[in-house]
Amino acid sequence: MIGGLGGGPAEAVCSRAGCSAPARWRVEWSNPRIHTDGRTKTWLACDDHVEYLRGFVEARSFPVAVSRFVAPAAAPGGDE
Ligand SMILES: [Zn+2]
Repeated sequence: MIGGLGGGPAEAVCSRAGCSAPARWRVEWSNPRIHTDGRTKTWLACDDHVEYLRGFVEARSFPVAVSRFVAPAAAPGGDE
């Protein structure tokens, strides 16, 4: 069964307002004041906005980590 023609998972696009470019980066951050249980927030970013989003978090002195994002549909292999 082949998916992908509608009804698939939400497209992974940049979290920047007004941008619908495919996401290539994960920006994981937390606000120590409200995320007291170690949870993190994850934004997705395109190449153009990864630095903007990271800077947005860093300006608030929140911990932030950026890593490569690989869209699930683009991942090779079919292991479950
Ligand atoms: Zn973007």
